[in-house]
Amino acid sequence: MSAESGAHLRLALENTSDIITVFDRDGNIIYQSPAIGRILGANPRARIGANIFDSALVHPDDRASKRRFIKSLIASRPGQELKGDFRLRHVDGTYRDIEAIGINMLHDPHLQAVVLSSRDVTKRKIALAALSESEARYALTFNNAPIGIAHNDPKDGRFLLVNQYLCYILGYSQKELLRKRLRDVIGADDVAQNLRAVHDMQSGRINGYHHEQRFVRKDGSTVWVNVRMAPQRDASGKVTYFLITVEDISERKLTDVVMRRQQELEAKTAVLAEQREQLLAINKAKDEFVSLASHQLRTPATSVKQYVGLLMQGYIGPVTPEQQQFLAKAFESNERQLKIINQLLYVARLDAGKVRLEPNECDLSKLLADVVEEQRLTLADQGKEIGLHMPTGPITVPADERLLRMAIENLIDNAGKYSPAGKPITVSLRTGKRQVAIAVRDHGVGIPKELQANLFQKFSRVDNPLSIAAGGSGLGLYWAKKVIHLHHGQLVLVSKPSQGSTFTITLPQAEGTAHVA
Ligand code: ADP
Repeated sequence: MSAESGAHLRLALENTSDIITVFDRDGNIIYQSPAIGRILGANPRARIGANIFDSALVHPDDRASKRRFIKSLIASRPGQELKGDFRLRHVDGTYRDIEAIGINMLHDPHLQAVVLSSRDVTKRKIALAALSESEARYALTFNNAPIGIAHNDPKDGRFLLVNQYLCYILGYSQKELLRKRLRDVIGADDVAQNLRAVHDMQSGRINGYHHEQRFVRKDGSTVWVNVRMAPQRDASGKVTYFLITVEDISERKLTDVVMRRQQELEAKTAVLAEQREQLLAINKAKDEFVSLASHQLRTPATSVKQYVGLLMQGYIGPVTPEQQQFLAKAFESNERQLKIINQLLYVARLDAGKVRLEPNECDLSKLLADVVEEQRLTLADQGKEIGLHMPTGPITVPADERLLRMAIENLIDNAGKYSPAGKPITVSLRTGKRQVAIAVRDHGVGIPKELQANLFQKFSRVDNPLSIAAGGSGLGLYWAKKVIHLHHGQLVLVSKPSQGSTFTITLPQAEGTAHVA
């Protein structure tokens, strides 16, 4: 080596960033470059004469391995390179990661030494550790994100990467899904649109795509999802993969449906409320018409009654027995007509809310005795007996006597109309602690169970062997029940076909009387 090239070599060694250490077969350091000062803060001169096996600067955990490394370096084939890693202590007490490459030059007659180049890789190690940590964190985020994520191959749509949530949404395992293509999980209705979007993204016409649609799960069921796709391109602009996110929106869709149903329902309710208003108005108009018409009918019907009465009594001249018979029939028909007109009027007044109770202390014993007595003759004419059973002494309730009397008369009238001759009728009164019960019992045609519920409706009539002959409007029970309700009482029926019926009125009683027994 010329003096000039020796000087050049020395200059190179002095300035290299690696620590160059030259030592002999026994490990005695012949030369160490000044980089040791930069890397470890040590004085290179102080190290000359020291031994490479001296472990003072080596991290205690790496001492054994470093010794082995140096030993194998000394024992290695001439010219062979060997690599070793260990940590060296800086003068500030911290350690530096060192990557060393040694070459055995002991055979070289000029050098007869081992050359070791030690590089400080601390920063690189830190960077690598940070990189692998951020990769791990990314993988964790990708896998655990609460949204489905996938990478798809732009060539055939195959799933290249899928996260756990996507597998959960679609019901596939990760392995299964990685064998599928995007079109395998798209609902039939959306395949064409999705493929068009993929094509447009590849050609660069659009930069991304999102759509609410259905995906098909492994079990064949569908799930509503919000899909977003974005093409990922390389430097040349070619799509390398599609980044796809999938959000499960089935719950929101369900809420949408429920809310839509609710709105429809509200709209229907509003229509129904309007129709109800209209019906109420029509009903009111009808009630007013019935009331008006009945008023107008009552006057002429009453005149007919008076004129027929005068004829029957012979005021206009003698009447033959045959004429008397015809007049009696006319009188009876007129009576029925008047009764119906009156019932229509009563019901119209009740429905219009015009009936006001005028309650008094009403003695039921007296009232029932009167009513029964009044009906006795009429019923006797029809071949029916009427009996009355009640405790002795007055029994009073707060009631509108006129209306209560009409309701009871109605029941007795019906008992007569709907029982054949020879069957007795019984009226009874029982008292209780808080209420009294008035029962009207007959042994007539009775009423089938299935028809009983409707019996108290307006114009409700039940066909029975006596109903045609009896005639009627179907208003009596409707009116009676309403009047009893106005008294805070009840009107109930117990009946069996061919065995008879019992209609019972219960009324709240004036204080101080006993229980219904
Ligand atoms: P109407 O007797 O004028 O038809 P009601 O309202 O008084 O009207 O009675 C309604 C219907 O109930 C009657 O048509 C009749 O079929 C039935 N009904 C009422 N009372 C009795 C009864 N005591 N026995 C059998 N059926 C009865």
